[in-house]
Amino acid sequence: MSWYDPGLKFSCTNCGNCCTGSPGFTWVDDREIARLAERLGLDEAAFRRRYIREAWRGGEQRTSLVDKPNHDCVFYARGVGCTVYDDRPKQCRTWPFWKRVVETREDWLDAGRECPGIGRGRLHTAEEIRTTASDDGLP
Ligand code: SF4
Ligand code: SF4
Repeated sequence: MSWYDPGLKFSCTNCGNCCTGSPGFTWVDDREIARLAERLGLDEAAFRRRYIREAWRGGEQRTSLVDKPNHDCVFYARGVGCTVYDDRPKQCRTWPFWKRVVETREDWLDAGRECPGIGRGRLHTAEEIRTTASDDGLP
């Protein structure tokens, strides 16, 4: 049993808030890096030099996409959206059903202040939310 047993509504409005404007990490694993490198026609070493930074999380060194100087994601284009959409990292696919976002109703409502898709549109079942949150792509 969890507080979201009746399900939660979410449909993305494509506002771009979650990809822009504030410092943060977009975690990527080796497989995602390989896929993105292939998409961009780069070898992995070149891709890593250009698009990847190392950061510590939970006592481990991990890899994240770099941000632009204005803190937009490096793959976000204003007026276009995500330019690598079909190959976007797992954490981008699983938002907003992240463990820490669905932990409590307050966390969910809090996330809704930045994400206008939260609380509207398609109803996602509790089972779907649980499955997504259990493998959300975050360290
Ligand atoms: S903030 Fe929410 S509504 Fe806006 S683009 Fe991101 S997921 Fe979609
Ligand atoms: S990879 Fe795409 S969806 Fe993910 S943060 Fe960057 S622009 Fe947004």
